[in-house]
Amino acid sequence: MPLWFLRGVAHGVVTTRYPARAEPSAATLPTPPAFRPEALTRALADQLQGICPSRALARDADTLVFDVGACTACGRCRELAPGAVIASGNFELAATSRANLVKRIPLLGEKATR
Ligand code: SF4
Repeated sequence: MPLWFLRGVAHGVVTTRYPARAEPSAATLPTPPAFRPEALTRALADQLQGICPSRALARDADTLVFDVGACTACGRCRELAPGAVIASGNFELAATSRANLVKRIPLLGEKATR
């Protein structure tokens, strides 16, 4: 039986400690996207919504609604629009409520086309 298990049972620890230093393999993990508002238009937001298999993206008027909690970091949105979507590099997602995982990104590219 592993020592960490016995130690946990003896001291009541139910989770492992957060790692003090980053795991090297984390650099290669796929991460949710980050969006460049100035490159986003309504048309592109609609395309992104259509390509997302997790329904993590939706357009609400001049806003792209991104549900980070639903995103699987598949990378399809980045492939579709590499100028507007980049990898966030952030794989650590924590929030105090589900609603805090939903981001509203303004479609500032619309202003450039008006
Ligand atoms: S990475 Fe995949 S799941 Fe996440 S928002 Fe982009 S298309 Fe959707």
